[in-house]
Amino acid sequence: MEIQKQSKQQQQEEFALASVTELASSSTSSSRSDSQSAPVIARFSAGNGVAVLRFNRDSESTDSISVDVKTAQLSKLGPLQSVCIAEASGADTGKEKYSTGVTVQFRNEEESRAFHCAFEQWKKKDIVQGTLLPNGAVTSFKSKFEDKIEPSSAKMYFHYYGQLLHQQNMMQDYVRTGTYYAAVMENRVDFIDRVVVDVGAGSGILSLFAAQAGAKHVYAVEASEMAEYARKLIAGNPSLGERITVIKGKVEEVELPEKADILISEPMGTLLVNERMLESYVIARDRFLVPNGKMFPAVGRIHMAPFSDEYLFVEIANKALFWQQHKYFGVDLTPLYGSAFGGYFSQPVVDAFDPRLLVAPTISHDLDFTEIKEEDLYEIEIPLKFVASVGTRVHGLACWFDVLFNGSTVQRWLTTAPGAPTTHWYQLRCVLSQPLYVMAGQEITGQLRMVAHNAQSYTIYLTLSAKMWGPGAEQGGILQTSSCKLDLKEPYYRMSQPQAYAMAQDQQPHQPIHTQMI
Ligand code: SAH
Repeated sequence: MEIQKQSKQQQQEEFALASVTELASSSTSSSRSDSQSAPVIARFSAGNGVAVLRFNRDSESTDSISVDVKTAQLSKLGPLQSVCIAEASGADTGKEKYSTGVTVQFRNEEESRAFHCAFEQWKKKDIVQGTLLPNGAVTSFKSKFEDKIEPSSAKMYFHYYGQLLHQQNMMQDYVRTGTYYAAVMENRVDFIDRVVVDVGAGSGILSLFAAQAGAKHVYAVEASEMAEYARKLIAGNPSLGERITVIKGKVEEVELPEKADILISEPMGTLLVNERMLESYVIARDRFLVPNGKMFPAVGRIHMAPFSDEYLFVEIANKALFWQQHKYFGVDLTPLYGSAFGGYFSQPVVDAFDPRLLVAPTISHDLDFTEIKEEDLYEIEIPLKFVASVGTRVHGLACWFDVLFNGSTVQRWLTTAPGAPTTHWYQLRCVLSQPLYVMAGQEITGQLRMVAHNAQSYTIYLTLSAKMWGPGAEQGGILQTSSCKLDLKEPYYRMSQPQAYAMAQDQQPHQPIHTQMI
């Protein structure tokens, strides 16, 4: 089904139908008894606190039949035909109640399915009265997503993903896409004859993989305008596409006609959690997945280790030197030096680094997507404890992640580790403005705390302390502590620097952009 228009707030959604036929009209207010056979537009809209479904002869026509979605019933008469029955809205309401109804003819089964999904979605929408605009009352829908995410952030985010170039960028990460493909194909048993939901389908590529693996039906849920492209891509692959329905909307808001046996999704951002899409993945689990259903991926693992990188440290510190000028066109810039210095050290560094820069064995922290509560992702606290392998200056904490496809046949990890083939996530480093001096064998303790914010990212608080080493260590004293606060939303993409590891073949260098799937 071609959805021609859909406002950002989902206040309106349109569908083209083959035809509608009004059942014998019993409402005295209606003079219509003629059959309509011309192509029509069905439009869901929200006005004055109610969801209305209006059947128009075309998008301009005022000659229409309207029903209140809350009380209306939609039933299938056949694969391409449904009937919508609702209470008549006559002028003499308050006396006897009558029903009105229309028979809806769809152009194909896919469109019928999408219309039924939208109907259920609009039926369940929690419509609340909003601000009054010049064109009348505007309504808004509350969802978990809108409760916690700043609208301007969401707008930029979905605008970004609505563009094919960014989907291409992810698809061209062959480590990523190839690992998903292998994990799905090796675990066909988990997909054959199963109902699948693709959470944040983007181009629809993972839905197509699931269909290739034999899924009975895939619901590809995508909130951005990319949903239209996904429809096009899926329609162009008809042998798979007949088993895929694209649903445009947020997983927090859409309704699906059936439960899923398995969820597939690629919700990982930089440092795993950036973009806060894991929360949407978990919400999708709670809303759509059958008990004990599978999740692809099922586990996320954050790896951490202290690193030493004098070049990086000097590079960051030097960026602020500009503000040490006393006579910049006759102006003393030094009052802002401290702020500029702090600003540069509040940016996490994203690049591919040589694993030899790590100065202690890594530790890890697991997030089990099948168990974790959505609220558990609002604040993540990881205690740190390392033993330095060498005597060196520690410049901060290096982080990366893996995810696990816990298939029934094969367990497969997708890794973004330094030294492994580079992915578009690279790795992330939190750099301390005050490095720590450690000796081999010395213990490094601390904490990594990540607090979610409403711009779909996290504030990172890092503390590292070097514990006393050598004589007197038994007393357990701490020698030095260094802390930093970083915004995961504002990383420093260090891609112009020579890379320790060459890009994977065919992989394009990525543009430094603001949304952090990159
Ligand atoms: N699955 C695709 C795209 C992954 S990028 C692939 O693997 O190539 C993540 C996608 O999820 C983006 O297209 C984004 O628009 C979508 N998305 C993010 N949050 C969402 C939400 N809450 N509801 C629906 N889609 C969402």
